[in-house]
Amino acid sequence: MLTRRAALLAGAGAVGAAATAGVLTAVTGHGPAGSTPAAGAQARRPRSASAYRLQPLTGYGPPHAAPRRTLVRREPLLRVSGRGRTMVLTFDDGPDPRYTPDILDTLAEYDVRAMFFVCGEMAAGSKELLARMADEGHVVGNHTWSHPLLTRLTRRQIRSQLERTSDVIEDACGERPEWFRAPYGAWNRATFQIGAELGMEPLAWTLDTLDWTTPGTRSIVQRVENGAAPGVVVLSHDAGGDRTQSVRALRRYLPELLDSGYHVTVPRRDYA
Ligand SMILES: [Zn+2]
Repeated sequence: MLTRRAALLAGAGAVGAAATAGVLTAVTGHGPAGSTPAAGAQARRPRSASAYRLQPLTGYGPPHAAPRRTLVRREPLLRVSGRGRTMVLTFDDGPDPRYTPDILDTLAEYDVRAMFFVCGEMAAGSKELLARMADEGHVVGNHTWSHPLLTRLTRRQIRSQLERTSDVIEDACGERPEWFRAPYGAWNRATFQIGAELGMEPLAWTLDTLDWTTPGTRSIVQRVENGAAPGVVVLSHDAGGDRTQSVRALRRYLPELLDSGYHVTVPRRDYA
């Protein structure tokens, strides 16, 4: 088993090669009420949690005769393009009961939706946390069962890693995930194909906070501040080690992003 750093370096080539592509168009769901990114306006607006549960796609417009097919991509989506200054926060490797609830509390305090790419083996024991994510409008994505380097697995093993995790997510949230992310950003052709067969879009990231190196809360905050830009997808972690710094950093950079006029939201799949 590679260390996370070694594996990250191993996977870096794959991501780097795709760095010029992968812009996700027509994204950004505002909340149901179409809130604006006015500074501070999103904070502490009480609403019923259930209002944010994502609606099934079939709930809108004419009924779909057949399940929608997912395009097989050649590289992951790396950023989003939406109206105005949109950013997406993503949290990987969880859930972890020690850190995930604090992150959810902060997101709720500022009325912000994020994405959680969960691992099946973590999620299986914390289904209540997955249910809370869905209830509060967050997107629960698939980050494999046990966080392996998918590029070293057979197709059968890749499918098992993804399918079992989607099963847990469906059991906890009521819907199968529409997004997945390869551990260490190590994607390959089989991964894209199998992900698409399972109805999921591959999402990578634009900005790595490097929180997994525990560089200090201030360092994480500065990375987000310096890297903030329209369309940026931020990678953080709510599990996989001591994530106290990640929890504290979010409390600092999230209000700063909102005060700077960023609309922090989640991508939608109802495009194309
Ligand atoms: Zn990961």
